Amino acid sequence: MDELKPCPFCSAAAVLKRNKVVCTNNGCGVEAWMLRAEDSIRVWNTRPREDAGVVDDAMVERALKALIQEEIEQFGYASTPYNGARIACMKTALVAALGKSNG
Ligand SMILES: [Zn+2]
Repeated sequence: MDELKPCPFCSAAAVLKRNKVVCTNNGCGVEAWMLRAEDSIRVWNTRPREDAGVVDDAMVERALKALIQEEIEQFGYASTPYNGARIACMKTALVAALGKSNG
């Protein structure tokens, strides 16, 4: 059986319940429900934007963590307050650098 990708909306883990893939975050409620389990899994795991190499929030999150880690290694501390506005700037810069957008 294929491994289930995290929820595309909240990044929580997903589980297969009978023939339905469901997000484990009760507040989210996203599911992929086909007649056959294998079709539900295929639908759940189909992410054309991710597969096309589009910048997504998870990529920005990884880049941010790498940047902070690099800064700490270079200077012994992270100099920048990494808040929502800073992360939005990074996302814009990544999209501009890669020439793609998920909007
Ligand atoms: Zn979810």
